[in-house]
Amino acid sequence: MTETGCIVVLNAGSSSIKFAIYESGTDGDVLFRGQIERIGVGPHLEVRDAAGKVVAERKWPNDALDHHGATAEILAQGQALLASRPVLAFGHRVVHGGTKFVAPVRIDRTIVSELDALVPLAPLHQPHNLAPVAAILNAAPHLPQIACFDTAFHRTQPLLAQEFALPRELTAEGVRRYGFHGLSYDFVTKRLLGTQPALAQGRLIIAHLGNGASLCATKDGRSVASTMGFTALDGLVMGTRAGTLDPGVLLYLAQQRGMSFSAIEDLLYRKSGLLGVSGISSDMRTLRASAERSAREAIDLFVYRIVREIGSLAAALGGVDGIVFTAGIGENDAATRAEILAGCRWLGVTLDPERNRAGEGRISMDNSTVSAWIVPTDEERMIAQYTRSALASS
Ligand code: AMP
Repeated sequence: MTETGCIVVLNAGSSSIKFAIYESGTDGDVLFRGQIERIGVGPHLEVRDAAGKVVAERKWPNDALDHHGATAEILAQGQALLASRPVLAFGHRVVHGGTKFVAPVRIDRTIVSELDALVPLAPLHQPHNLAPVAAILNAAPHLPQIACFDTAFHRTQPLLAQEFALPRELTAEGVRRYGFHGLSYDFVTKRLLGTQPALAQGRLIIAHLGNGASLCATKDGRSVASTMGFTALDGLVMGTRAGTLDPGVLLYLAQQRGMSFSAIEDLLYRKSGLLGVSGISSDMRTLRASAERSAREAIDLFVYRIVREIGSLAAALGGVDGIVFTAGIGENDAATRAEILAGCRWLGVTLDPERNRAGEGRISMDNSTVSAWIVPTDEERMIAQYTRSALASS
């Protein structure tokens, strides 16, 4: 495949579709990046060029666009911005690949029905991921589409790390630990394999700390355990998600409070985590800027859970060589990194406060037994790379 043109990466969520457009030929910088947010409640499109300048903006009345309509708008905007440069392929973020999809796959109608069958495992995300796939299959069936999965990176985990202690028939039905944020861990691991190969081949704990947050333990660049399980609700405290809960809490909410499934779902996905504990915000910057005690308490719980889970993953790995921070909080919040690493001193990690403030590369002292690092993630670029590889091999 020698044709040059562009690769469009789509990352569709429940109320937004983010996109990024790359040159096909090189692993170069993004040409345009944008999103349509607030789908269904006042859609708003914004597109920026590589320099961050807004090059397109548009708003629609409340319910004027669904996910199919939003995809059509993105395709039209993309075409206008790219002028005569052709789109060669689309790369999609797809949250769930089940146990079958262990790597990106080229989409055809059979694959679409296999991915549709996984909707019950991720009912809030998978249908939205698949809506643009269907829209493009109808509008431009000749264009290759590649699905890249959030779960695929974790399929290297030992079976033991993927199982719940539930009756076997439930495990066979798919009630098991999948792990998420895989595209981010994949990107960070590959970046480290290029820059710090010895470290990347060792035992790492990677902390993806953004609105969603999880930890992944890797050995030899492969996932061996993760804090997220059956859904992206498990594990750490997140912006609006509680993380690990005693399942008895759910029984209590249903039995004693008479809460419906949808009310519990709303509580767990949208009203808990940093937002629920602080009562102020899900956003770490707002909490750090707040003088309210509840903001401090929310941050303390966020850090405490991470430190405990690092201990658990250290045990799963049989020791740790490095701890890596990524995503919005992991990359930008020196105070949170310092608090987490203070709780990990027992592991043999000593923070270098100046490097931590500088916010790049290695942030531990040279003589620290366990090293600590910042590696910025880029899930869209990972998808673009996979899409390029799929084109090259077709
Ligand atoms: P993400 O989901 O990766 O975009 O990360 C979003 C989270 O990163 C939010 O909680 C933001 O408040 C947080 N974040 C971004 N920049 C900073 C910063 N400079 N300091 C603290 N938190 C930040």
